[in-house]
Amino acid sequence: MKKFLKILLSIFGLLILGILGYTYFAYNAWSVGEVAGLHERSGLKYYQDSYLECRAAFREKAAKLKSQFDSVETFPVEVKSNTDKDLTIDVCYVPATGKKTRLLILTSGIHGIEGYVGSAVQQMVMEEFIKPELLSGTGVLFVHAMNPYGFKYSRRVTENNVDLNRNSDIDSSLFANENKGYHELYGMLNPNDKANTGSLRNQLFMLVAFEKMISKSMSALRQAILQGQYQHPEGLYFGGKTFEPQLRSIAPLLVKYGKDYDKVLEIDLHTGYGELGTLHVFPNPVKDPKVKSAIKQVFSGYKIDWADTEGFYTITGSFSDFVGKLFPGKLCLPTSFEYGTLNSQTTMGSIHSIHNMILENEGFHYGYTTNESTAQIRENFREMYYPSSLSWRSKVINDTRKMMISTFKNLKEL
Ligand SMILES: [Zn+2]
Repeated sequence: MKKFLKILLSIFGLLILGILGYTYFAYNAWSVGEVAGLHERSGLKYYQDSYLECRAAFREKAAKLKSQFDSVETFPVEVKSNTDKDLTIDVCYVPATGKKTRLLILTSGIHGIEGYVGSAVQQMVMEEFIKPELLSGTGVLFVHAMNPYGFKYSRRVTENNVDLNRNSDIDSSLFANENKGYHELYGMLNPNDKANTGSLRNQLFMLVAFEKMISKSMSALRQAILQGQYQHPEGLYFGGKTFEPQLRSIAPLLVKYGKDYDKVLEIDLHTGYGELGTLHVFPNPVKDPKVKSAIKQVFSGYKIDWADTEGFYTITGSFSDFVGKLFPGKLCLPTSFEYGTLNSQTTMGSIHSIHNMILENEGFHYGYTTNESTAQIRENFREMYYPSSLSWRSKVINDTRKMMISTFKNLKEL
């Protein structure tokens, strides 16, 4: 009997070791790979490598438009900061000629570090699409770097650790929202030690995540984590306790330029969520069937990832929804473009995505154990929002160009 127990325990021990070994290697050896196919690379000229360079390129394009077309307005809006006196959101408004029928609002950098790609897409649209024939009845409002602090200092969030895309609303009852699922995950999402990529917990993070997945479905977990929370200022997806200053300064400008148009299409540019190299059209849930059918029409021929379908999630305080609320009575179509980077629609991709965010937030608040950890965490974070792959970057511009040709055409026929 004793011998049998011993054998059983040994088998059990080996099994555990096997699982741990497999988990360790499978998780740490994983990489998202490269975008498939060959991609024409002329779009790479729209990318720069710092907030200040992106801003300078945007300003240059805006100045050129001002010299080409009547009544173009372009100016910076300062975002007050305790640490940096040179943070601005930059605006460029190109009015429609003739009757003001439809306005496209194209916003970037709500999540600071995602601004590199947002800026590149804006620059491409400014250079390639703003032509006299397009402007007949159609105006375009570019808002560059909504979160310049996060952009400049490689964070998703603002200087106050606030996720602007969970902070946007016209009603402050937003901040009373309670995300019960988040409380249960608090410990996993917000460790409070120095960030250390070599720690056992981080090396075996896949098991930590699996333990949560056993108790909840993947979609319930995704929803609880991503929805937004208003109780933990140091935590991930913190939507704030009050509105961030830039919302107060940008909202009146959106209203000022949008009020004369019958229809408003808002596209908020993001990276990091979804399939590697894929442009996801991602509206928040739409209740009004008229709005839903107009969104389908504008993006006809493209798959739309409605936020309430399998694999996606709904959020509170989203910026595109907020824009929709600024124009009651108008046909307003609030959407986001998400350029996927880490295959976050897969289990492995989503675990790596959230792990990257946890480590970055931990490092920011509590520091890092080693220079190696600092470098690795920062690199993984940047790669997740601004991939260095030239194929990825090229594909983003090529796909968006194609998408915008049909979007502008469909918008005109709406
Ligand atoms: Zn984003």
